[in-house]
Amino acid sequence: MSHWLFNKEHKMFRQSVRKYFENELLPHVVAWENAGEIPKTFFKEISNMGYVGIRFPEEHGGSESDFITEAVLLEELGRYGTGGIAISIVYHLTALSLIAAFGTEEQKEKYLEPAIRGEKIATVAIETKRNEQLSSTRQGNGYQLNGNKTFVTNGVSADFICVTANTDDGLNLFIIDCKLPGVLVQREIKKLGWRASDTADLVFEKVNLEQSQRLGSEHEASEQLKQINQWFYVMLALVSISLSEKSLEDTIRYSKERKQFGRTINRFQVLQHKMADMAVEIEKSKNLTYRALFLLNEGEDAEMEATMAKVHAGEMAKKVTDSAVQVHGGMGYMMETPIQRYWRDARGLSVIGGTTQALTEKVSSLLQSTLEKDTKEYTKS
Ligand SMILES: Cc1cc2nc3c(=O)[nH]c(=O)nc-3n(C[C@H](O)[C@H](O)[C@H](O)COP(=O)(O)OP(=O)(O)OC[C@H]3O[C@@H](n4cnc5c(N)ncnc54)[C@H](O)[C@@H]3O)c2cc1C
Repeated sequence: MSHWLFNKEHKMFRQSVRKYFENELLPHVVAWENAGEIPKTFFKEISNMGYVGIRFPEEHGGSESDFITEAVLLEELGRYGTGGIAISIVYHLTALSLIAAFGTEEQKEKYLEPAIRGEKIATVAIETKRNEQLSSTRQGNGYQLNGNKTFVTNGVSADFICVTANTDDGLNLFIIDCKLPGVLVQREIKKLGWRASDTADLVFEKVNLEQSQRLGSEHEASEQLKQINQWFYVMLALVSISLSEKSLEDTIRYSKERKQFGRTINRFQVLQHKMADMAVEIEKSKNLTYRALFLLNEGEDAEMEATMAKVHAGEMAKKVTDSAVQVHGGMGYMMETPIQRYWRDARGLSVIGGTTQALTEKVSSLLQSTLEKDTKEYTKS
């Protein structure tokens, strides 16, 4: 984890978060996966530790730190919050980031502040383009929302959701209280991985919304998401990297203990190379991700870098955790080691938040416009 991006304060913060998660989170992961539930008290506890409010303004209960401090939190969550705990927090923080960036003072008081205090759980149900499943029609001064959204993390446990819906041929973002009449959990879905976090299909049936529940101006959602997705992609990449790093560490440790043919398996060159390849893949992902993190922390646009980071990290995590299973041999296939969970968790990381294929398309179209911009920039004089 040593890198010039992280200063002395970031390193001290990492030490304290790691200790906290080792003691207060890791011992519960298996039980929470088996129960299919993250206790609400966990949100309260990490809020009390100041972890939820890291980047949010002090006036709303946060500590107004930088992106790099929050990145440390996400990396440590990726290591210890396997089984979907890290993913649940990523969606929670994404919703809060939307409200912090685009919400009115009233919206921040009503939603952001109690979430920072650990009293409310949030999530997002978003599409960056036209939302085929959900639409909102104008009704008096407000809107009526109808339709559904498949696969929503924290869909059962959330108190409020940031939702995109089409209105008059433009995309809007709304904050929706889950207790509003017409907001229904259609079904809770069982998953290959991330079993501690709940995932639901949601239905919105004639949900009446006040104008004050729209986030930002009319038809601004695509632009808002373009901005917030940069941090969302980096958060997912950071979780992918630290999950992969943890599975490499566990693999190296196991290879030094397991004996076959009279020697420990770390003496087999074929396995040494496999572990070296895992490390190289992780390092490549880190460099892409830390560059995007650096740009965001400097307040610069990182759309291309963040998208590339998410694409690479999602694919890398699949490869690295698969190699971890292989080096563990039969033991890697057994539920009694965390290696199988790393592998199951990693499989979702190239799917959620935009699949590798869809985001590669995006990188490709960004490349075309960047080339034009760069050509103009360097030939203008
Ligand atoms: C466990 C889980 C939790 C989730 N939680 C949330 C949540 O909290 N909030 C939320 O909003 N969403 C959530 N999602 C939705 C998630 O973001 C989508 O599943 C993901 O973006 C893929 O969309 P899809 O499932 O519709 O797949 P599809 O888009 O139907 O993809 C099917 C295939 O088509 C390919 N494809 C699709 N588009 C393109 C393209 N443009 N170019 C090339 N190939 C393409 C895909 O790569 C894939 O191979 C969650 C999903 C999962 C699995």
